[in-house]
Amino acid sequence: MPFTLRGDDVCQPTSPTPIPKPYWVAFSPAVAQLIDIEIGSNGLPSHGDWLEVLAGNQLAVGGIEFSSPIATVYSGHQFGVWAGQLGDGRAILLGDMNGLELQLKGAGKTQYSRMGDGRAVLRSSIREFLCSEAMHALGIPTSRALAVVGSQQAVLRETLETAAVCSRIAPSFIRIGHFEHFASQQNIVRLKELADLMIANFYPECIADKDSYLSLFKAISARNAKLVAGWQSVGFCHGVLNSDNISALGLTIDYGPFGFLDQFEIDHICNHSDQGGRYAYQRQPQVMHWNMACLASAMLPLLELDHSEEESQALLRSALEEFPLIYAKEWQYLFRSKLGLQLEKEGDIQLIERLLQAMNDSRVDYTNFFRNLGNLSKDVLLTTIPQRNEFIDRENIDQWFTDYINRLKSETLDDQSRKEMMNRINPKYILRNHLAQAAIEKAQQNDFSEVATLLQILSNPFDEQVDFESYSKPPPIDMQHIEVSCSS
Ligand code: AMP
Ligand code: MG
Repeated sequence: MPFTLRGDDVCQPTSPTPIPKPYWVAFSPAVAQLIDIEIGSNGLPSHGDWLEVLAGNQLAVGGIEFSSPIATVYSGHQFGVWAGQLGDGRAILLGDMNGLELQLKGAGKTQYSRMGDGRAVLRSSIREFLCSEAMHALGIPTSRALAVVGSQQAVLRETLETAAVCSRIAPSFIRIGHFEHFASQQNIVRLKELADLMIANFYPECIADKDSYLSLFKAISARNAKLVAGWQSVGFCHGVLNSDNISALGLTIDYGPFGFLDQFEIDHICNHSDQGGRYAYQRQPQVMHWNMACLASAMLPLLELDHSEEESQALLRSALEEFPLIYAKEWQYLFRSKLGLQLEKEGDIQLIERLLQAMNDSRVDYTNFFRNLGNLSKDVLLTTIPQRNEFIDRENIDQWFTDYINRLKSETLDDQSRKEMMNRINPKYILRNHLAQAAIEKAQQNDFSEVATLLQILSNPFDEQVDFESYSKPPPIDMQHIEVSCSS
């Protein structure tokens, strides 16, 4: 198992709490393949006991035994405030398969559940399942989701709901919060063990560096900088970017009240509980940078093993300054690509920013605008561009299209090749809230077909899928503002 730190101060042996009469709600054969689970012709595991295992009802299946399930301890900053000890309050790490950790989310109480019931509801489990797989297909690093198993067991949230268990996999679920935990306890031995474990298993390029902890910090920070640029490019808002929800591998983890932008709104807040907008769309890069500052403080004692306090601070401070640069470079690359620009020219960034401002002012559908932009020809007559009708300030957008078409003329790709390139970065299908909501409402009536349909569509987000054209449309007016909160 990659996460090999053991001991009472690190994790607790924790068995899942069974749920009555489990049933399949969703299953991803692609993820099952990654961990060598054999699939039958019905697309489900051939070995029936997997249902019981993924429900948390038993710990062995077909010769595989998960003999030491655990819950781990971490701490963290929530909404910018130190929250102290947290931990896997409703996630249980069963073990690893093919070098990937298998975790059950919602499998009952752990030592770290605090006031919580250790459960997750059907609605949030379906959202996590679908979004994990959608993000992966979009090319954005993420934990993957294997299955959702449901039960009629009641769970109390604002109303009475039913329980579900989402099984998810990742090379490691270590978070910034794990580092913060040992640092806050001034447990340098554990902190060092954790950093060494990360380097040995996931960042081997840092071993050779004489300042290997500094280089680990830089590598984690760089991955998260690129991750958040990826989120911005597909219009994804995470919703709860607390340091305990930030992966030390730069993966998207802990899907809660996330949302994809429908209409482009630069300060969109997807989490109903985030009244101050700390985690609004445009603040995500800044907030990720802030989380990397939390990691830097946590790792300070490791640098002090080889340097003076002052030197260590200076090294980390300057490493932290690399974040905005790495982010900006990645963001510029992604947005140039979204516009079909392969060359780097002066004025490109202004061109991108002017477009985003205009899209914000007119609340243009983010995904569809970029997708349809690929259809533009370099010889188009301005007045025939259909997208210009989506903008209120026509004069402004006409000027933008004029400048954009001129810019396209300095590119070498022909229209068709550019369109193909743009269609590989501008998805046609994203997990819009209203689509998830429709699948959830059916699932709550025990019809899971829509979850399966969405999994299929979102697994190929860049392809034209003629039978599913309607899934690319913006939400109907009454479904535009679905509110999602932390209560899940
Ligand atoms: P989240 O914001 O969902 O990542 O959760 C923050 C912390 O609260 C983590 O330590 C979770 O394990 C814990 N938590 C959230 N929901 C529950 C629950 N229903 N039962 C126990 N712990 C929970
Ligand atoms: Mg969390």
